[in-house]
Amino acid sequence: MIPVQGVSGKTIAVLGLGRSGLATVTALQAGDADVIVWDDSPTAADKANDAGATLRDLTKQGAFDGVDALITSPGIPHLYPEPHAAIARAMAEGCPVDNDIGLFFRSFATSEWDNFETMPKVIAVTGSNGKSTTSALIHHILEEAGRPTQLAGNIGRGVLDIDPAHDGEVIVLELSSYQTDLARALTPDVAVFTNLTPDHLDRHAGFGGYFAAKRRLFAEGGPDRAVIGVDEPEGRYIANQLTEGPNDDRVLRVSSGQKLGGPGWSVFARKGFLSEYRKGRQVASIDLRPIAGLPGAHNHQNACAAFAACRSLGIGPRVIEQALHSFKGLPHRSQLIADRDGVSFVNDSKATNVDSAAKALAAFKNIRWICGGLEKEGGMDALLPAPTVTKAYVIGREAAAFAMKLKGLDVQVCGDMETAVTQAAADAQKGDTVLLAPAAASFDQYDSFEKRGEDFIAKVQAL
Ligand code: ADP
Repeated sequence: MIPVQGVSGKTIAVLGLGRSGLATVTALQAGDADVIVWDDSPTAADKANDAGATLRDLTKQGAFDGVDALITSPGIPHLYPEPHAAIARAMAEGCPVDNDIGLFFRSFATSEWDNFETMPKVIAVTGSNGKSTTSALIHHILEEAGRPTQLAGNIGRGVLDIDPAHDGEVIVLELSSYQTDLARALTPDVAVFTNLTPDHLDRHAGFGGYFAAKRRLFAEGGPDRAVIGVDEPEGRYIANQLTEGPNDDRVLRVSSGQKLGGPGWSVFARKGFLSEYRKGRQVASIDLRPIAGLPGAHNHQNACAAFAACRSLGIGPRVIEQALHSFKGLPHRSQLIADRDGVSFVNDSKATNVDSAAKALAAFKNIRWICGGLEKEGGMDALLPAPTVTKAYVIGREAAAFAMKLKGLDVQVCGDMETAVTQAAADAQKGDTVLLAPAAASFDQYDSFEKRGEDFIAKVQAL
């Protein structure tokens, strides 16, 4: 755990007692703060008690009397569609609002570092899709390269839950737009921007607000090195804003599909091959096609981003190549569950939006596509005509309405996972892939995308 610095003797309020909230309480207590907490759930009092913190209703007038800061959890709206009542109250009463990421960046470096040979570093990864895969892949490469490393943030452990950094350690953080939007300190050594497509627009009042939240990671005086996916205008804009001139190699440009030219530093994947160029010359090439844990052009983009981040730390291309081969992939992202009579079953339950589902559909052929759930804004048209799909099997509470949107496809309304898996498996022929890539959130039928993916796995195993 990272004790929070600069809070000794202060009163700090924590809103939200989930995983990151509870880790924050412990880290604040270790920093000698007096911690008060609030959570809307009925179990709040028990959780506060277990954490040894005082429960106070932070929505009441005067709740922030004598409180030095409010630390909030990423799931709780701080501005749009409207601030949570406790956050609105803190702002009205002049209490600064921050999150665990802000506390982490202010507390990470300690006086112990004076004795270190190599300063610890932080690599922070943001973007719309591929954050978890890219973060986990960077962490895996660092491990394989023999570097001390920890993975935290939106993936795995809360940032304040990690161990204090060792000599030369690299902390890899996955950061969501909610986290980057609010953090009052955000100073990674290497920042990675994977890509940008519309998501979470209600929490950011539209695409501009969403981009602005991600962009904070690259604000003035930002990272020493920036790895930027330049396949969208927003990525090209950030890359351009950060570079001083064509030779500036503090920015590593990444693309999936385009050959990147110029004298700068770039890493791109085309037709299954990764290439690294620096100062106009090719310095490395990797055949990504046989790498089982990273199927499809979207994963090749993740591979390029992770490769670039690790190259910026001076790790050699061959070491990275070996590590790419031993990467197993993450659960619920293009995860191969079973091969049954020549039919593959792939779990991509994390494809909760249209863009990530489109990538999954492009990564396989002859797809029996299980989709549906709680639809996000923007409709399904971006997925059509879906030439790799043989037939769609629609689940979800609004399955019939969802199915109507899949114009031109052979569609069967299944409703639940069991019907969809059974039907798809019965129809499938050798060489087909039964793919769960819902293009929708899971909350109409499940608590989370993980639960949905686990249900898919259970139904496949029951066949
Ligand atoms: P995030 O943490 O940003 O949500 P994940 O690595 O968990 O990203 O992947 C989320 C979903 O997006 C999965 O369905 C995955 O197959 C898909 N995906 C992964 N990488 C990319 C990418 N680079 N571009 C688009 N979709 C991707």
